[in-house]
Amino acid sequence: MQTGAVVGFEALVRWQHPTLGLLMPDQFLPVVENTGLIGPLTLEVLDLALHTVRGWWDEGRELTVAVNLSARHLTDLGLPAQIGARLHALGLPGRALDLEVTETLIMTDPARAGAVLAGLRALGIGLAVDDFGTGYSSLAYLRRLNVDELKIDKSFVMRLSQDDEDAVIVRSTIELGHNLGLRLVAEGVEDQDSLDLLRTWNCDRAQGYFISRPLSAERVRPWLDDHERGRSSLVPAPR
Ligand code: MN
Repeated sequence: MQTGAVVGFEALVRWQHPTLGLLMPDQFLPVVENTGLIGPLTLEVLDLALHTVRGWWDEGRELTVAVNLSARHLTDLGLPAQIGARLHALGLPGRALDLEVTETLIMTDPARAGAVLAGLRALGIGLAVDDFGTGYSSLAYLRRLNVDELKIDKSFVMRLSQDDEDAVIVRSTIELGHNLGLRLVAEGVEDQDSLDLLRTWNCDRAQGYFISRPLSAERVRPWLDDHERGRSSLVPAPR
C-alpha cells in the first residue's frame, strides 16, 4: 500500500456453464463441497493458477497467486508433497504461491491442520488466514501456526469510511496483527477513502473492487500495463 505496487492476484473460480451462463462460486461450491469434488476442483484451480503465474514469471513479472484451500485439504497430510511436485514441475519457487485458509478450517482439526501448514511452509509457500474476524480462532494460536498474513474480512472493510465501529475493528486488527509479526491485507476495498484510511493505518496490502474487479487471466496483462503506466488512483500521492 505504501508504493502502489501490484504484488499478486487471488485466483477465484467461476463456471462458464453451457446453458446457465456464468455461474458464481456460491451457485455451485456448496454442491461441489457436498459431493466430494472439492479436492479435484481445487487441484484444477491450482494447476490453472500456477500455469498462469509461470507465464508472468517468464515475462519477468514475479507476481504471486493466492489459491483458497478447503477443509478437505487441510486434513490431507499428502497435500504438501502434491503441491511441491506441481511447483517443481513448473520450475517455480514456493514464494510464487500463497494459500488461503479460514479460521474455521484451522480450528476444525488444529493438530492436523498445523502439520499440513508446516509442510506447506517448508516449501516456501505463503500462508494466509482468509476472512479474518468472522471465525473464533485466537490470534495467539494463529501466530503459533506460523501463518504470514491475515486477510481482514470484507464485511469490516467495505463500509470502513462510513462506519466508525468497523473503522475501530479494522484499525485495531492491523495494530494487533503487526504486533504479532503478521502482514495485514484488507479485503473488499471499494472506495478511495477506505484505501486512504488503510494506508494511514499502515495496512500492508489491499484488494477489492476499487483496485480491480475480478478479471479473466488473459485480461491481467492489459490491466497491469495500464496500472504501470500510472493510469491508476492506487499509487499514493507524493507527500
Ligand atoms: Mn480468499
